[in-house]
Amino acid sequence: MLHATLKQLCDGLAAGKFSSVEVTQYFINRIKYLNKYLNCFISVDTEKSLAQARAADNMRATGKAQMLTGVPLAQKDIFCAQGWLTTCGSKMLSNFVSPYDAHVIERFNAAGAVNLGKTNMDEFAMGSSNETSFYGPVRNPWNRETVPGGSSGGSAAAVAARLAPAATGTDTGGSIRQPAALTGICGLKPTYGVVSRYGMIAFASSLDQGGPMARTAEDLALMLNVMAGFDARDSTSLQREPEDYGRDLTMPLAGLRIGLPKEFFAEGVSADVIGAVERAVAEYRKLGCEMVEVSLPNMALSVPVYYVLAPAEASSNLSRFDGVRYGYRAKDYGNLNDMYEKTRAEGFGAEVKRRILIGTYVLSHGYYDAYYIRAQKLRRLIAQDFVEAFKKCDVIMGPTSPSTAFRIGEKSGDPVQMYLSDIYTIAVNLAGLPGLSIPCGFDTGGLPVGLQIIGNYFSEARMLNVAHQYQLATDWHTRSPEDIEETTP
Ligand code: GLN
Repeated sequence: MLHATLKQLCDGLAAGKFSSVEVTQYFINRIKYLNKYLNCFISVDTEKSLAQARAADNMRATGKAQMLTGVPLAQKDIFCAQGWLTTCGSKMLSNFVSPYDAHVIERFNAAGAVNLGKTNMDEFAMGSSNETSFYGPVRNPWNRETVPGGSSGGSAAAVAARLAPAATGTDTGGSIRQPAALTGICGLKPTYGVVSRYGMIAFASSLDQGGPMARTAEDLALMLNVMAGFDARDSTSLQREPEDYGRDLTMPLAGLRIGLPKEFFAEGVSADVIGAVERAVAEYRKLGCEMVEVSLPNMALSVPVYYVLAPAEASSNLSRFDGVRYGYRAKDYGNLNDMYEKTRAEGFGAEVKRRILIGTYVLSHGYYDAYYIRAQKLRRLIAQDFVEAFKKCDVIMGPTSPSTAFRIGEKSGDPVQMYLSDIYTIAVNLAGLPGLSIPCGFDTGGLPVGLQIIGNYFSEARMLNVAHQYQLATDWHTRSPEDIEETTP
């Protein structure tokens, strides 16, 4: 079971090779034994998970099983799940047991999937290293002195260390793709509006999008088939015909035009990363693809634009955490204002406060036009660059992250260095496009490198096909951290 893909587990359950209770118990045991080294999970609740597993086995026995019935999945702690502690990695929500399910959780429950636990993350999804979590850093299973990336670092490390066959993540500026790259797994950020944000704690609403994290492109398709779908409770959810995201997996790639933006291969990216990405490009050539040079001339503006818009939206979204409605409240306070101030001063960590300050500033009278409005205009130009590029190619490729996993503490004192971790991913969110990261090699220190595949709007099925064909020809996605077997209970 250790190295079984999600697909293999689904097939095994369908064939009666094992029960959901058996698979769930297997992963619970691994979590019990290994989570103390990695800190991937904020909450596990064995009784709840096993009850769901028993219900799934019943569903199957009565002929009501669907594809994912009975498989255990880890859920990022940003998704509200009824009866589960849902912290978003923050002290502010450290006592919040959700009274309702996010749309994504509802869909997994209806499919009969088992919730294995809630994964660690950067506080309110703000970070690229999982170091801003109130629950402490997550460690990268490939080298425990390094970060797993963020903000979906707990989900990424759990899948890489085989503590869960697959997991959910969310991506506002790179938080699915960058941790997937740093831990050697696959992660997909869908087109904005494909996955409902209902019950997904809001960071920057015009950028936030949930998506799957797993070990193969095929598994991502299985997850997205459940996660995607219209939901009237999210005003930006798109009303579209349901799709089978795995429908194109077996299509040959001959004739595919791959755009290589020159800005992705310029200075600032590590030689090991570029080397691995170039070898992946060569592999695609062998598969019959044609390479086209494209340009994203406004790419360098994406990080500064994001760090105006995302904090602006966050400062508004996070105003609801006031100690009145739910969540943490300061113990000693005088009047109402004092209660607000102390609650927010004690409940939020440093990075979250920094974003609230920046966001409040750029939205304030006199600065709104100079910063917020200007950033919105630049956002349009960045999106337009992709429109031009996709006239010449079918998908765009490049590195997911400029470096492989860095050491814990290495960048935590320097926010700008940390922000630059998302230099290749952020433009995709600003444009609302889908982006995928798959493993494509290792650096000289044995740490995984991610290849980013960016598609046009709603081209997820094609992107997964592009990834799947590469995974049939290579085996990077099957590699696992060396000590994984010996630490197996
Ligand atoms: N690292 C980026 C940030 O800190 C993106 C985070 C995300 O995608 N949630 O905002």
